[in-house]
Amino acid sequence: MPGGEPLSTILDASGAPAGRRLFGLSNQQLAATLLEFSLAPYRLRQLEITLYRQRVESLDEVTTWPKELRDRVAAAGFQVGMPRIVETFRSVDGTERYLIAGDDRQTVETVWMPEGDDSPQDDEDRPNEPGAWSRATICVSSQIGCAVNCQFCLTARLGIIRNLSAGEIAGQVAAVLNRHKAEPGRDRINLVFMGMGEPFLNFDAFMAAVRLLVEQVGIPESRMTVSTSGIVPGILRFAQEPVRPRLAISLNAPNNTVREAVMPITRKWDIAEVIEAVRKVPLRPRERITFEYVLLGGVNDQGEHADEVVKLIRRANFPAKVNLIAWNPGPDVPFTMPRPEDVAVFQQRLREQGIPAFVRRPRGRDIYAACGQLKQTGGLLEIRKPA
Ligand code: SAH
Ligand code: SF4
Repeated sequence: MPGGEPLSTILDASGAPAGRRLFGLSNQQLAATLLEFSLAPYRLRQLEITLYRQRVESLDEVTTWPKELRDRVAAAGFQVGMPRIVETFRSVDGTERYLIAGDDRQTVETVWMPEGDDSPQDDEDRPNEPGAWSRATICVSSQIGCAVNCQFCLTARLGIIRNLSAGEIAGQVAAVLNRHKAEPGRDRINLVFMGMGEPFLNFDAFMAAVRLLVEQVGIPESRMTVSTSGIVPGILRFAQEPVRPRLAISLNAPNNTVREAVMPITRKWDIAEVIEAVRKVPLRPRERITFEYVLLGGVNDQGEHADEVVKLIRRANFPAKVNLIAWNPGPDVPFTMPRPEDVAVFQQRLREQGIPAFVRRPRGRDIYAACGQLKQTGGLLEIRKPA
């Protein structure tokens, strides 16, 4: 296991061995996996609807199938195997953070942000009414831990433990939708792939999850945003995808020198290379690329840094906006929060020079649910920092 101690060989939450879990399989994979039952296409379609639209948790609930068929499939060891929420933390601001158990006993973190969400497609700050929501954003993880090693991020401390499967990625969304009785189509649900991990270092599973969520669960890709630390081969592959979320790039610095210090991945792909790759992504009408910018007190949050960011974005010359995120603290992470007045000046400088800039309101800081704070705290097992 890369970057960590052997963690657990215990059965997964549903008790099903990976090969017998149905949740997460595409139409074709379901057909191939259930070949021995010679299912008619309409039977497969019924299964898909129950798995992804109704999101049932056991085969017994596939009531469009005759009981005899459900029993036969179950007797062969197949299970729905949808990931389960095993722990919930609720913030004073209505945000909830979950530990969700997937294919083994390890948990991943998922965050629910009701109403005044801060997703990049939502620019205005709306008040949050606890308990009531008309729209919500779910922040989804793509890996357990992360290999990228950004110096300001708590997830980085885990190292990379493992990739999540498509079912584990899409299953976070399914489990949270069920908890809140939310219905895509009726309710306005946004997804941000900004939880633990670097989605573009788990590209195939991430894109397979996106397809499931769009085609089966019914969440439009225009309501999804994926954030990357700038993995150039991943951005180039993403550019070729016919169905894809919006794209956010974690810029986090005004130039390569500062970026190298806070995001060592810059040594592999510098800012210019990342921007060249982003240029290959064909934008939809009115679509903009989001640059995320974590403001680190005294490091990248001064007026002159803002001016450099303006130049950089002007040179990039594609429709873009900036989301400013005040750094969220974590234990033993050697940075400080920016001063509120510096945040205001930074935003003002960008706006004055014609760059749309928004300050993201921190969500669920009190429960460690905010950006860069996800580290499986309070989970089934405490993961130690890799040696
Ligand atoms: N790995 C991807 C997506 C997950 S991180 C990426 O890095 O883009 C999502 C966002 O949180 C990134 O923009 C990242 O820069 C930011 N972030 C990380 N740690 C943070 C912290 N402690 N405070 C505020 N934002 C943070
Ligand atoms: Fe990984 Fe993103 Fe954290 Fe960087 S900011 S370590 S890429 S999760």
